Amino acid sequence: MKTKMKSSTPAPSSHSAPVNAWDMALEQLDTVAKHIRLDRGIHEFLRYPKTILSVSVPVRMDNGTVQVFEGHRVQHNVTRGPAKGGIRFHPDLTLDEVKALAFWMTLKCAVMGLPYGGAKGGVRVDPKKLTLGELERLTRRFASEIAIIIGPEKDIPAPDVATNPQIMAWIMDTYSMGIGYSAPGVVTGKPLEIGGSLGRNEATGRGVVVIIEEAFRRLKWPLRGATAAVQGFGNVGSVCAKLLAGMGVKVIAVSDVDGGVYSERGLDIEKMLAAKAKGAGVKDFHAPGTTRITNEELLECRCDVLIPAALENQITKDNAPRLKARMVAEAANGPTTPEADRILLKKKIPILPDILTNAGGVTVSYFEWVQDIQSFFWNEDDVNKRLKEIMMGAFNNVFQEAQTGNIDLRLAAQVVAVRRLAEALKIRGVYP
Ligand code: GLU
Repeated sequence: MKTKMKSSTPAPSSHSAPVNAWDMALEQLDTVAKHIRLDRGIHEFLRYPKTILSVSVPVRMDNGTVQVFEGHRVQHNVTRGPAKGGIRFHPDLTLDEVKALAFWMTLKCAVMGLPYGGAKGGVRVDPKKLTLGELERLTRRFASEIAIIIGPEKDIPAPDVATNPQIMAWIMDTYSMGIGYSAPGVVTGKPLEIGGSLGRNEATGRGVVVIIEEAFRRLKWPLRGATAAVQGFGNVGSVCAKLLAGMGVKVIAVSDVDGGVYSERGLDIEKMLAAKAKGAGVKDFHAPGTTRITNEELLECRCDVLIPAALENQITKDNAPRLKARMVAEAANGPTTPEADRILLKKKIPILPDILTNAGGVTVSYFEWVQDIQSFFWNEDDVNKRLKEIMMGAFNNVFQEAQTGNIDLRLAAQVVAVRRLAEALKIRGVYP
């Protein structure tokens, strides 16, 4: 099994320091609170994650030595239902980043109307440096360390950066061994054989494309013949690129962690996917008219839609003034800093915000959980149809909020989410 890291772009030393993701999340929350005159108590409540569990993850390596990795699971909020959110493996992972990602999951589930709160977890590790056996032992030990707070009714992990269905299967198995019976509903994004859902693998990318298509339609921009640049060629970026190319969009630039390629005429995504399946990196893709570009160049290339599908902190105050995209569709979580948001707003570049745009993954995770609880499985058409319905419904709510409030789409999405959360919190009350 291969685990591929999605793209990250380390900022060159001339750039300012990366923005702390948790500071960024709090700044966004404060902006929403001010805009809707949120009750002070509720505002305060949302500024603190409900539960933070930090664990050490000792792993017996193949050479007999023991290495210890740092892991976290953060549940930001459970007011609207069990906590929900992915687990990522990344060498630069920090607790503040996990807190921010958990907060964004709370907002994401609320804006989509899913009956969940928000969580996130991860291990600070470079999985590319582990053998398959080491990866399994790391995953199982991490799963057993967080088993005290996860469960089908409590907190349901899923894949995120550099984790995949096999890793979910190990988590499900470890948890099930501990309680003495199989609990498929403890994680989503599982392989089909053990209670996964059809359509889950492609769901995030598919959802991104639904939102882009609808945004183009509202703006009366033609999608066929439009140009797209995709940063990240992992589970999300590669599916976006494939589906967009299938709809007649020219995907002119794609990158992964090691760099990218550009073609004015549009890249052959099917060929790139075939090369990726054989283990090739994006930058090594050769075809007539195709040239190499860096991640920085990709973000600044002229295109109709720029799709950051990698990590946080990619569009910053340093590069935002140079962006030449007509629209940004956030397939990643938190790719744009608040300072960059303000710059793009001035440049009149609309941003389709992460908590709406990339919510297809958690939406089909919800379907998977429902199917597991009922032990009754749907066909792929049903999954995709219901996914589209929920994405379109959420888009409409957010778009309407933006129009009536004369605000940008990020603020509108967060307003819809925080209002729902505040309502639920008011009804439940603060315990005791
Ligand atoms: N990791 C994905 C996200 O950031 C999916 C989470 C889930 O399915 O719970 O939305």
